[in-house]
Amino acid sequence: MTAKKIVPDNDLCEVFNSRDSKNKIVVARGNPQAPLMIIGEAPGAKEEEVGKPFVGRSGKLLDKLLLNAGIDINLDVYFCNVVKCRPPKNRRPTKTEIQENLPWLYQQIKLVDPNLLVLVGATSLEAILKIKSPISILRGKWIKWEGRLVMPVFHPAYLLRNPSKEEGTPMSFTKSDFSKIKEKLDFL
Ligand code: URA
Repeated sequence: MTAKKIVPDNDLCEVFNSRDSKNKIVVARGNPQAPLMIIGEAPGAKEEEVGKPFVGRSGKLLDKLLLNAGIDINLDVYFCNVVKCRPPKNRRPTKTEIQENLPWLYQQIKLVDPNLLVLVGATSLEAILKIKSPISILRGKWIKWEGRLVMPVFHPAYLLRNPSKEEGTPMSFTKSDFSKIKEKLDFL
């Protein structure tokens, strides 16, 4: 099988303040033929440095949650973000930036063609499902979207700020969400 290439244009970072920053495009990591696509918000400093999504503290926690659920992060998962360049000063991406980046994400979804999408955090949830809803309401639920199944989950950055593993905490809910994702993967 040949690997599919998805390479956004360099001009994409023009939507950010690229005049005085050396913005690097961060496209993806993982298997471009994976059945599971994980979509985050935008790259952070570490991601920009390395050129891959979810390689900083949030990414390490995300990998751990996936591995603990029995999911093979090299085989089963393709990681990407709604926005492909790091927003200046780590602010949240603006509506315009999200709109400008969405065609690239749609192209990634089309080419990777995953059965399952996991929407990590509110930006990803809003960008794909076009609804404004607290993650706490929709997390852990499978939602039908464009012939695929989509599940919103808490962003690992939020879990790092709320690390308690007690029953009823965001971390314990997220562990059970990833077990559900693994169950679904096993039934594909
Ligand atoms: N947070 C995200 O949403 N994406 C990354 O790639 C890293 C941190």
